[in-house]
Amino acid sequence: MAGVEASIDRVRGWVEAAERVVVLTGAGISTESGIPDFRGPQGVWTRDPQAEKLSNIRYYMADAEIRKKAWQARLVHPAWEAQPNAGHAAIAALERRGKLHALITQNIDGLHQKAGNSPERVIEVHGTVLRVVCMSCGWKGPMQETLVRLLTGEEDPPCSLCGGILKSDTISFGQSLIPEVIDRAMRCAAEADCFIAVGSSLQVYPIAGAVAEAKAAGARVVIVNAEPTPFDDIADALLSGAIGRTLPRIFQ
Ligand code: NAD
Repeated sequence: MAGVEASIDRVRGWVEAAERVVVLTGAGISTESGIPDFRGPQGVWTRDPQAEKLSNIRYYMADAEIRKKAWQARLVHPAWEAQPNAGHAAIAALERRGKLHALITQNIDGLHQKAGNSPERVIEVHGTVLRVVCMSCGWKGPMQETLVRLLTGEEDPPCSLCGGILKSDTISFGQSLIPEVIDRAMRCAAEADCFIAVGSSLQVYPIAGAVAEAKAAGARVVIVNAEPTPFDDIADALLSGAIGRTLPRIFQ
């Protein structure tokens, strides 16, 4: 226990001294808000490997049955009810202290903005479930309006403009990332003097590479995650306690 306390004090000191903290978050920061991660012990894919198909663009585009299932999953997505937790709040407090250079998130749940982080500081590398996009004409609109169409009986609602396939405005597996968004995230990582990865198994590339990018540019690197990650060897500190208890202690 003494070791954990010492690590928390050390990291708190680094944050105190830093001018440009960059935080990278993954699904693990939202589990305490009731949104399961993918690969943690209670993760969606750990419990049901078939669920991965719903997040794969090839199956989604080819199979109306998969799309219907995906829409049903969106209808009851835990993000609609979820509230930010103490971990999200601590990152919002870090921004209020003027220390947050950028918040790179792999999450699609919008909870960082809900917690008070300004949208221009949040880099959503995998998009957001709060919007829909037409896969044919590129039209984008609020998710809630499309969910209302489901409630009135449409099982796989097409784009109102062109009839194309609609999808949440998230990056599914097999889909290209948006190069400008990734470039911005990598640039910010390289500008950090303290880089903190939170609640990510750091297995999804290229964004997991931001950890090495920050380290190579001279940042202190801290990993806050319950399980080991492939980047633990290059981290200056590892904190494996619950995120909602750890972040308030290092950021506030
Ligand atoms: P992941 O599921 O691969 O890893 C999450 C990690 O967080 C695990 O290692 C787990 O042990 C750890 N963790 C979970 N709860 C924790 C807690 N309370 N305290 C400490 N550690 C905790 O997540 P990932 O690396 O973000 O990759 C999954 C992909 O799926 C992401 O790209 C993301 O876009 C998407 N996703 C997003 C959400 C969301 O928006 N909330 C939810 C599920 C998946």
